[in-house]
Amino acid sequence: MTWYVLAEGYVAAEGYVAAEGDVVAQDEVVARLRAAGCVFAEEEAAVLRDGDPAPELLAELVARRVAGLPLEHVVGWARFAGRRVLVDPGVFVPRMRTEVLVARAAAYVRTGSVIVDLCCGSGALGAVLAAGADGPVELYAADVDPAAVSCARRNVEPLGGTVYQGDLYGALPLTLRGRVDVLVANVPYVPTAEIALLPAEARLYEAPVALDGGADGLDVARRIVAGAGSWLAPGGQVFMECGEHQAAAAATALRAAGLNPSLHHDDDLDVTVVAGTRTH
Ligand code: GLN
Repeated sequence: MTWYVLAEGYVAAEGYVAAEGDVVAQDEVVARLRAAGCVFAEEEAAVLRDGDPAPELLAELVARRVAGLPLEHVVGWARFAGRRVLVDPGVFVPRMRTEVLVARAAAYVRTGSVIVDLCCGSGALGAVLAAGADGPVELYAADVDPAAVSCARRNVEPLGGTVYQGDLYGALPLTLRGRVDVLVANVPYVPTAEIALLPAEARLYEAPVALDGGADGLDVARRIVAGAGSWLAPGGQVFMECGEHQAAAAATALRAAGLNPSLHHDDDLDVTVVAGTRTH
């Protein structure tokens, strides 16, 4: 898919351009979204109108949303844990359920903490943790996907953090070994056979590498766990998100790696956070 800049801050995919001269009346936005099957049409309309786009641009944004692009890719940002996170085309959109992981990890962030966000995507998790810290922290993020890395740089560098491109720990400078206080990772955890069942917004517009976790969905999680013991500082903790049915296997992997596991399930958001502490 080819992407091009439409106006500052907005990027369009080829094929999703409103007809020339098309403008959309303010009260028509909600109706068009609703007709296209958007359940939260009013809320989405408010997001599309944010920043008061010119009528031609608003028509373009509505056309792209109606064509099925995720709302966050249409406007180029997502609201996550009270912050506005920039989200570029193809980059995993931060989910509200991941705020559960962030809240649990935030409880362990202190002034001076070394925070690492692996599989960082847009960099949302690390950015929110660093922005919410009481004092300065060291923030490092990494992703294997160059599109994610360039997006994460826009979210993380203004906070003084650094983003690396590469495969999990292999992306990090060796000087961080044994120094990480809080390691967060919204790993891809969808089992390969279930990728086809994902909503089109994820299937068509997010990088498969951000979603596909292998046969049981835990391939990447296991690799994070395997390295955690040597990258965490004594007392440091790793936090990962997974599905409820994956939690027991994730805890077993943490224990096998010498970490002390704990599990937290949030019923409202239907998400499980697995954490592991390096105790020695
Ligand atoms: N579909 C899952 C979600 O929306 C994907 C999460 C993931 O693989 N990290 O949360």
